[in-house]
Amino acid sequence: MKYLKTQFQKIGLQPGNGKSYFQAVPMMETKITHTTDLTVSSANQKFDLKYLQDFVLLAQTPKPEVDLNDEVVFAGYGVVAPEYNWNDYANIDVKNKIVLVLVNDPGYGTEDTTIFKGKAMTYYGRWTYKFEEAARQGAKACFVIHNTAAASYPFSVVQTSNNGDDLYLDERNIPKPHIDLAGWVSADAAKKILAAAGKDTSLIVSANERAFKPLDMGLKFSLKASVSTHYSTSRNVIGKIIGTKRPNEVIIYTAHWDHLGIGIPDERGDSIYNGALDNATGIAGLLELARNFKKLKIKPERTIVFRL
Ligand SMILES: [Zn+2]
Repeated sequence: MKYLKTQFQKIGLQPGNGKSYFQAVPMMETKITHTTDLTVSSANQKFDLKYLQDFVLLAQTPKPEVDLNDEVVFAGYGVVAPEYNWNDYANIDVKNKIVLVLVNDPGYGTEDTTIFKGKAMTYYGRWTYKFEEAARQGAKACFVIHNTAAASYPFSVVQTSNNGDDLYLDERNIPKPHIDLAGWVSADAAKKILAAAGKDTSLIVSANERAFKPLDMGLKFSLKASVSTHYSTSRNVIGKIIGTKRPNEVIIYTAHWDHLGIGIPDERGDSIYNGALDNATGIAGLLELARNFKKLKIKPERTIVFRL
């Protein structure tokens, strides 16, 4: 951060936040300190899915204890996209229930370029969206069924990057819906869940149809998790060039600094969070952009903000 501030000063950017090059970003970190396995029960059977092996979990609220013992709804891709005339939550109430959804979006599933953006993933395909939409629908928890091809990474990546610890913006002062728990189940675990509901993978294929209807699976998921929450403040580094004619109109360029630290070794034994591509190249590009904006003979009419 200090390095970035010094670079901004050397380039000749003005501080972007009053007299400061830093902008406070309040954060909330949640950690699953303990969880039971996930019990799947139907009218005539019951089995457990193993934590970290068959499923992973993140806590999206600061509640210290989360107790799931709720009905499960399969909601296809979990997408509500009026502009694509698509609603996977049509005519079903998932309030306080658990939703099970597919990764990616129907364009990927069908490979039909007239549906969503075909094979190119839209925001509706990202897992962050799935959890946001489940929260808007009032669900208590949401599990994404992993699929290596559709996600573009194997379940091992899900396992190592979502092992119970996550960072969010501190939204205590912003009333916004959240699910208590966000999770992923492996493809094998999903098969067992479908079988317990008397279904098979044809149910997954049916989610590609516009006529797909969300389905109450006749199952319950039960689990008890303990969560610890920690609040802290991170910082953005922010600098600007004030516009000559329209200083109140602002163009923002942004990149991010992360990948700091050491964690669980990957399959090659590398435990360092290497960040040359993600996102040191972005930062270097942004610094060059700032340098070149400063060098312009004709100064920009609008304010240019650089935020890292
Ligand atoms: Zn990154």
